[in-house]
Amino acid sequence: MGGDELAGRVLAGDRRALARAITLVESSREDHRRSALDLLERAAGAGRTALRIGLTGTPGAGKSTFIEAFGRMLTGQSLRVAVLAVDPSSARTGGSILGDKTRMEGLARDPRAFIRPSPSGALAGGVARRTREAVALCEAAGFDVVLVETVGVGQSETAVADMADVVVLLLAPAGGDELQGVKRGIMEVADLVLVNKADGALLPAALAARADHAAALRLMRPRPADPPGHPEVLAVSAATGAGLAAAWDAIRAIADWRRAQGHFAARRAEQARAAFEAEVRAGLLARLVADPGAAALMTRLGAAVAAGALPPARAAAEMLATLAAPGGTAAAERGPLDDAAATG
Ligand code: GDP
Repeated sequence: MGGDELAGRVLAGDRRALARAITLVESSREDHRRSALDLLERAAGAGRTALRIGLTGTPGAGKSTFIEAFGRMLTGQSLRVAVLAVDPSSARTGGSILGDKTRMEGLARDPRAFIRPSPSGALAGGVARRTREAVALCEAAGFDVVLVETVGVGQSETAVADMADVVVLLLAPAGGDELQGVKRGIMEVADLVLVNKADGALLPAALAARADHAAALRLMRPRPADPPGHPEVLAVSAATGAGLAAAWDAIRAIADWRRAQGHFAARRAEQARAAFEAEVRAGLLARLVADPGAAALMTRLGAAVAAGALPPARAAAEMLATLAAPGGTAAAERGPLDDAAATG
């Protein structure tokens, strides 16, 4: 299939074409990368947007079960739902979504849904970069909601905040020790906290955890982009479906409020700028590693720094001096944008 045909089929909402397109953007081969960039440009040209929801939480909190129930609720309302994973641990485990596929069986078979496990064997940062592009492809394919799932350990939760409009933190009622592990980083990026498993014998613990988290959040927040009374903490049960409609209402309320206040577009603009800068950083680093001379110099200077023969800042300055000459950068500054402006 040619690039144009693939793009056309993605824009027509073809899920198999979408899967192929995502594989293309995940590829590190240079020719694939070029096709991927064309594809992403075509996708952006479609001008479609979805509500991007980041879902994070510790393993066992019930994320897969939640996505199945929540996703089915949305497809039941005729919404098209895409689910993507950012899972730095997937290189070891083979991917949480694949492993938990049995918990998403209904959604996996649902014609209005698209589920994509995280690529295995990739670096966490790379996964996040390509997941952002996968989100854009899902939007171009006409999905209304894109759920990006991440395990809330390490840095993936901030990575998901960088590509989501609304971040949802899913917690198990256990609280206490479990919460210590996740607390600050995630709590700071979460727009909505859901205490899952509010059912059966776990209901009282879930309600108690909800009150604890609400109190903790009141001390930490609000941020300017939080609507009044937010962030909320709600009790839900992915197993029974209790509270899921309220969670969806809360997510939409946050998104609507932010749209009205201008925060929504501002956040996306900032995310796009950050993605551009991250891409440049990663590209420079890749160039360093790929150039044998630069890599050798990096090793030599690194050894000198480790031996105490050079201060780190001096070694870095020497390293950077061998890279792009400033004149080249200045020329690049009068680049395609100026030409575009000149020709109208
Ligand atoms: P994940 O690791 O966050 O994706 O969590 P899973 O969805 O795999 O769920 C972990 C365990 O919690 C499984 O045994 C689920 O059956 C259970 N679980 C998930 N949601 C609920 C819920 O709402 N209520 C109860 N009682 N158990 C749940």
